[in-house]
Amino acid sequence: MSKAQESFSLQFLGAAKTVTGSKTLLRAFGKKILVDCGLFQGPREIRQLNWHKFEGAEQIDAVILTHAHIDHSGYLPKLSKEGFDGPIYCSSATYDLCKIMLLDSAHLQEEDAKYANKTRHSSHRPALPLYETKDAHRALNLFKTIEKNKWQEIFPNISVRLLRSGHILGSTFVQIMLKNAKKNTIITFSGDIGNGRQNVIKDPVSLVETDYLVMEGTYGDRSQSKEDPKEILTKLIHKIYKNKGVLIVPAFAVGRTQEILYLLRKLETEKKIPEIPVYLDSPMAIEATEIYLRHMEDLKLDLNEDGFMEPLSSHAYYPTQYVEESKNLCKKDGPMIVISASGMLTGGRVLHHLKTRLPKEENIVLFVGWQAEETKGRLLLHGIPKIHIHHEEIEVKAQIASIDSLSAHGDTEDIIRWIQGIEKKPRLIFLNHGEQAALNTLQYRLQKEVQMQVVVPSMNEEFRIEE
Ligand SMILES: [Zn+2]
Repeated sequence: MSKAQESFSLQFLGAAKTVTGSKTLLRAFGKKILVDCGLFQGPREIRQLNWHKFEGAEQIDAVILTHAHIDHSGYLPKLSKEGFDGPIYCSSATYDLCKIMLLDSAHLQEEDAKYANKTRHSSHRPALPLYETKDAHRALNLFKTIEKNKWQEIFPNISVRLLRSGHILGSTFVQIMLKNAKKNTIITFSGDIGNGRQNVIKDPVSLVETDYLVMEGTYGDRSQSKEDPKEILTKLIHKIYKNKGVLIVPAFAVGRTQEILYLLRKLETEKKIPEIPVYLDSPMAIEATEIYLRHMEDLKLDLNEDGFMEPLSSHAYYPTQYVEESKNLCKKDGPMIVISASGMLTGGRVLHHLKTRLPKEENIVLFVGWQAEETKGRLLLHGIPKIHIHHEEIEVKAQIASIDSLSAHGDTEDIIRWIQGIEKKPRLIFLNHGEQAALNTLQYRLQKEVQMQVVVPSMNEEFRIEE
């Protein structure tokens, strides 16, 4: 086949009409390139997809990651276990975050299998983990970092460029340029798009041109709350200070935790809140925060009056590494703030804190992120009077509060504005990474308001890309 007749294709192997398991396969010039390699998460029937064999893993030539979140990177150890041994390209901050996140994910898979064997909750005997720590290490050895904002040739006629997407540290849009005889074709993968309202991470850049766009639509049918998180935090902190209570913040280790740490520092510096001890009780969040500080180029932290960057920690800040220290925290009197994982109360140290603090009305639990259905987080937000934690019934007397404006995703308006900002608009937009209703609404608005051609691919659907 001559170069001029070369045709390319895109196949959607995950995150089609759903929000997890992002995997898009590009076939071009005889190469197979997978953009993102995410784990399916959430309901059992979705998670079940992780167990299917990835046909032809050894034939994938390269993986390119938009960012480190597990729904975009967490399948890599499985892909490598099934024979993939090509390069994995990403930004250097994404690599640093993947080092902790993939090992943590492997550890959770091993724990799940152990638990299933103990409780005999598995159809396989013995239950095996989806992948193990050694698989995560093998995948991590394949990583190759790429400098942002520069085209880099990864195969003959195929170049890649990473541009800041403002979602989490290191997150990027992935652009792939296919060089044909007549012209170049650019395909852009948005990954998750930031909303430009984050305090710690720099805003997404606008695109100059793209021929095709594979875009997320998680918030495709919603407007996010624009309430000021600082006002809510100020009120709650004054309350626990007065009542000597404890403010528990269940938070995701990467992203939300650093936003909260930033806001606490800011409020203290502005003398809007008293300086009270803040415990960061999550080894992964502690490590992630250190990684954030090693990548200042991605951050927009304020300079203080001496010209130094404000640190990503409050004045009385105590990272809590060890389980013993964590348990001792439960015995301490307030006022104090404990930031701990997991964000949706699906496990982790935060459960010990809740067990001790929920039954007392001077305490407050503050949710700062989306709580999925059937999680303890969702139940508490809905005002459940008693909750089961570690097989114990716990009375809920503490105040339950939430801040809804700390999302790391753009909403409908943000996404439409971002598309309007592209100088040379894409010929075709593929919408993935979103519930069907959100994607359909976004498709309608992009067609009507920005006159774009938009398709919503189904799982495994393949599209031919014209040059
Ligand atoms: Zn993400």
